[in-house]
Amino acid sequence: MSSTAIVWFRNDLRVHDNEALISALSKHDFIIPVYILDDRFLKEKTSFGFAKTGLFRTKFILEALQDLRQNLESKGSSLILRQGIAEHILSDLAKETNAQCVYCNRERTFEEITIQDNLEKSLWKLGKELHYVRGKMLYYTSDLPFPVSQVPDVFTQYRKEIESTTRVREPYDVPDVMPFPEISLNRGEVPSLADYGFTTIEKGSSEKLHFQGGETAGLNQLNYYLWKTDLIQNYKNTRNGFMGWDYSSKFSPWLSQGCLSPKQIYRELKLYEAEKGANESTYWLYFELLWRDYFRLMAKKYGNRLFYKSGIRGKKQKVSADMNDFKIWANGNTGVPLVDACMQQLNQTGFMSNRGRQIVASFLVNDLNLDWRMGAEYFESLLIDYDPCSNYGNWNYLAGIGNDPREDRYFNIASQAKKYDPNGEFVQLYINEAFS
Ligand SMILES: Cc1cc2nc3c(=O)[nH]c(=O)nc-3n(C[C@H](O)[C@H](O)[C@H](O)COP(=O)(O)OP(=O)(O)OC[C@H]3O[C@@H](n4cnc5c(N)ncnc54)[C@H](O)[C@@H]3O)c2cc1C
Repeated sequence: MSSTAIVWFRNDLRVHDNEALISALSKHDFIIPVYILDDRFLKEKTSFGFAKTGLFRTKFILEALQDLRQNLESKGSSLILRQGIAEHILSDLAKETNAQCVYCNRERTFEEITIQDNLEKSLWKLGKELHYVRGKMLYYTSDLPFPVSQVPDVFTQYRKEIESTTRVREPYDVPDVMPFPEISLNRGEVPSLADYGFTTIEKGSSEKLHFQGGETAGLNQLNYYLWKTDLIQNYKNTRNGFMGWDYSSKFSPWLSQGCLSPKQIYRELKLYEAEKGANESTYWLYFELLWRDYFRLMAKKYGNRLFYKSGIRGKKQKVSADMNDFKIWANGNTGVPLVDACMQQLNQTGFMSNRGRQIVASFLVNDLNLDWRMGAEYFESLLIDYDPCSNYGNWNYLAGIGNDPREDRYFNIASQAKKYDPNGEFVQLYINEAFS
C-alpha cells in the first residue's frame, strides 16, 4: 500500500535545502505540501496592542507563498493553503487525505512550540505522528561540541569553540520530483493584502528598499551580493551603514521566512572564496550568521525568560510603560534626528539597519527609560525580517538583561551620527520625506 505524508511549511518557504521535504520524500510515496496562514500570527495583537504582523511582512509572506507554489508545481507538486488555526487544520487534513504523518521544521519559541505540541497531541489521538526536522540554523545542534543546555553564554567563547571544532554540513539539493497523491483537494488561493485589512503600500521613501518575498528573489539577492557585484569583498567596512541597498547583504527577510537557507549562503560563500579569494569581509558574513545561530541557541537554552521583563538574566528593572513617551519614539518624533530618521525608515519600509536598530533600542531603554518589551513588540509588528530569537535576543542584549559581558551598552547618538551619517544624508532623506 502506498504511503502519504504532509509536509507542513512554516518558516522554511523554500524547496532548496529543505530537510522536511527531503525526509518525507525519502520515506513516503506521496507528499502533500501545506502552509497555514495562522490567524494567531496574522490577525491578533501583541500584549501592548500592536498588530502581530504588519503590512510589510504580510506582503512578503504572501509573495513568498506564490513563489513557493510555483516552485513546487514545477516539480509536479502543489501547495495547499488554508487560513485558521494550524493544528486544527492539519489534523483534519491528515484525516481527510489519509496521510500517515506530518513533517515540519521544529521551532524554538513559546507560541510556535505551543502549536507544534498541540498538533503532536491531536495527531497522536488519530494514530499519526509528527516528525520534526531542523532547518533554521547554520549548524546542527547535534554537531555542536556542547549540549544546548551548556552553550557558552558569551558569544566570543561560543564562536571560538564552534569555529575550531564544527563543520557546516552541505545543503540539500532541490528534489527532482515530488509526487502528489491523486486525490481531489482544494488548493486554496493566496489571500490578498486586503484580506488582512491592508490597503496598499504607502509611497515609500525615495531610497526604495524593496524586498520581494520568495525563494527565487532570495537566491537572486545571494547571487547579487556575491557574484554579480562583489559587494561582499568590502562588507566588513560597509556593514554599519545606513543609506541604500548595498552596505549590507539584506538577506535577513529571506532568512527569517526561510526562503534562503543559511547553509546555502555558506556554501556559496565558500565557492566565492575559492574562486575570488577570502578576506576579512567574506569571513564577517559567516561571523554574522554565527550571531543568528547564537540567539537561536540562547532562546532554546533560556526558554520563555527571553520574553520576560527581567530577561534571560532575571535582572529586575524599574522602567516606565508610558504610552505617550512610547508613541513619540515609535512615530519618530523624539526631536533627535538620527533616532527619528531610523524610526521613519522602519515605519515606511519595514526595515532598519543593524546600527539603526541598536541606536533606537538604546534610546528607548536608556534615554526614555521605557520597558524594552514595548520596543521589541513594536519591532515584531513592523519588521519585515522579524524573527523571535534574533529580535528578542538582541533586545535582551541591548536592555542589559541578556548575556552581554559589557554592563553599559549606551550609544551616544551625536557621535554615532558623526561617524555613520556624517553629511546627514540619511536623516535628511527620512525626515524630509516624513514631512513633505
Ligand atoms: C534590537 C534589534 C532587533 C533585531 N531584530 C532582528 C529580527 O527580528 N530579525 C533579524 O533577522 N535580525 C534582527 N536583528 C539583527 C540585525 O539587525 C539584522 O539581522 C540585520 O540588520 C539585517 O540586515 P542584513 O541582512 O543586511 O544584515 P547583514 O549585516 O548583511 O548580516 C547577514 C545576516 O547575519 C544575521 N545577523 C546579522 N547581525 C545579526 C544580529 N545582531 N543578530 C542576529 N543575526 C544577525 C542576519 O541573518 C543577517 O541577514 C536585530 C538587531 C537589533 C539590534
